[in-house]
Amino acid sequence: MIALVTGANRGIGREAARLLAAGGHTVYLTARSAEAATGAADALAGPDVRPLRLDVTDEGDIAAAARDIGALDVLINNAAINYDTWQRATSADLDVVREAAETNLYGPWRLTRALLPQLRASAHPRVVNVSSEAASLTSMGGGTPAYATSKVALNALTRMFAAELRSDGILVNAVCPGWVATDMGGPGGRPVEEGARSVLWAATLPDDGPTGGFFRDGRPLPW
Ligand code: NAP
Repeated sequence: MIALVTGANRGIGREAARLLAAGGHTVYLTARSAEAATGAADALAGPDVRPLRLDVTDEGDIAAAARDIGALDVLINNAAINYDTWQRATSADLDVVREAAETNLYGPWRLTRALLPQLRASAHPRVVNVSSEAASLTSMGGGTPAYATSKVALNALTRMFAAELRSDGILVNAVCPGWVATDMGGPGGRPVEEGARSVLWAATLPDDGPTGGFFRDGRPLPW
């Protein structure tokens, strides 16, 4: 299997890349700077870890990736920003909200669309959108407004792409890694490997696996 992981220089993305490489898969380890991608790839030292500069907000990077990447089976849209615990919806800075959407929503949208030729050519194509239970409308409060609205929209995008790509056999799912002890999650969360495994579950689904769902640890989450 050939996979591409965004935001893979640290956190859950890096761990997902590590686990994929350890499983013998080919991994495009992408990061928003070439140095960060190369540094993280060197640290993994897997037999087939390919560093690639890919800022998901940069149309040029995305066009270059779509041009340069050969075959691809699995796309993991992991990169995200602006877990805005300092804001509430009623007083949110809308520039922060827009900035979150640029990376957390438009990033996966642009990249998935650009890589559709490769995914359509794969025998077992999968798209994993790394979301968050913060996007669950059922338990929605007024906190982290930039982050939560971007992830709600990412969940909607997951449903839309899943519906459109079902006939191509491309399984598209949203996953929550749980509360994970990364730079974003802060101390106290669960180990990064557990979070990454929740993500990889959706990357390695069988052909008759679900599409258009929202999961954590392989179990459905309420929208
Ligand atoms: P993290 O430690 O903050 O890492 C985020 C990664 O995204 C970094 O590699 C960062 O690169 C990259 N990134 C940011 N903007 C980017 C861009 N424009 N283009 C490409 N890469 C970009 O976060 P994490 O905890 O690993 O989170 C990974 C995913 O899990 C996110 O989607 C997050 O929303 C989700 N999640 C996390 C938790 C948690 O508790 N940690 C809970 C629920 C969901 P730089 O190093 O260049 O900044």
